[in-house]
Amino acid sequence: MTRQPVLIGNWKMNGSLQSNQALLVRMLPRLRPFRDGIELAFCPPAPYLFQVRDLLGYTGIKLGAQTVSPFVSGAYTGDVSATMLQELGCRYALVGHSERRVLFGETNETVAARFQALLNVGLTPVLCIGETEQERDAGQTLAVLQQQLQAVIDQVGVAFLTRGVIAYEPVWAIGTGKTATLEQIAEVHQAIRAFVNSQPGGAEQGDRLILLYGGSVKADNAGAIFGLPDVDGGLIGSASLNADAFAAIAGALADAKGITPGQADVEREVES
Ligand code: PEP
Repeated sequence: MTRQPVLIGNWKMNGSLQSNQALLVRMLPRLRPFRDGIELAFCPPAPYLFQVRDLLGYTGIKLGAQTVSPFVSGAYTGDVSATMLQELGCRYALVGHSERRVLFGETNETVAARFQALLNVGLTPVLCIGETEQERDAGQTLAVLQQQLQAVIDQVGVAFLTRGVIAYEPVWAIGTGKTATLEQIAEVHQAIRAFVNSQPGGAEQGDRLILLYGGSVKADNAGAIFGLPDVDGGLIGSASLNADAFAAIAGALADAKGITPGQADVEREVES
């Protein structure tokens, strides 16, 4: 089954008006050859969504948020609703990033409610799932991932799970420089697809699912990871703050999935 390659940059709580602009001025020309073949998106901190939307302009590169309120509107001080994100031009929002789960107490149930809130307004949730090192050592990896997925399936149903994107991000590999081995990544991605396929009404939904890997993806390991047939792309943290690194990762994804970079765009870039 052919699936759309996807590459999403999560800037986390980094940046400033000035540095965002400098980063994108360097980044956007480097991404030009890949825009047709890869769905590209950046998730800046919420206060910069407007600025980044303007900088992305008509490039076709999408805007995403890093989380969303599970509530529609009202007395939820500090929260940002799905409708507000939509109004700001977002296409995506991350839900259940491990930093949100661990540091801000997001549970499987509130993550599922956030997923639903995004679907309700036509945005695409990027559901982050992953096990801690302790859970992996205890042999609980697949059980933990299944619980995280099941909460969302219980909330929205298996058919709507596949309206989102899933990012498998082992917690112990995020921002640590430790990457899961290719065997670990392949095993988990296969198991996620099989689990979704095995749900009532889920036949082939798992094969259709856009499934990303995240966790210390860099220019030098991206090619091997994206070469795995069940990996459709990446959720990239620290390397998305570096124009050369992120563009090299996009190039690795294009190579791995047999996407020919836009020739005209390459030539224009060489000239500029
Ligand atoms: C992330 O924040 O989702 C992530 C994968 O971070 P890093 O690439 O820095 O490990």
